[in-house]
Amino acid sequence: MGHEHVEQGDLKICQSCGMPMPTAELLGTDQNGNKIEDYCVYCYENGAFKQPNITLQEMADICTGYMVEERMDENVARKLLAEQLPHLKRWSDPAAVSPAN
Ligand SMILES: [Zn+2]
Repeated sequence: MGHEHVEQGDLKICQSCGMPMPTAELLGTDQNGNKIEDYCVYCYENGAFKQPNITLQEMADICTGYMVEERMDENVARKLLAEQLPHLKRWSDPAAVSPAN
């Protein structure tokens, strides 16, 4: 009873932009070129964020654009991202966020 099945176990999502990463080609890389499982290749490459100073809001705007391209309704996309992004490691861990302002 009440046995909940957790399905997020094997689908990795980028801890910066929330993009699902079903294949290894989408995984980011560390400074040695090894695949990492926390961030996608669009956000993180060779051990560094590609947009180190991006804000959560800017990230949400960019992701909304991609999701609209995938034919998602813009309002739905924005709502989804507003709920998802703040929980990701990059945005929930204060140490990982740029100290600007
Ligand atoms: Zn990403």
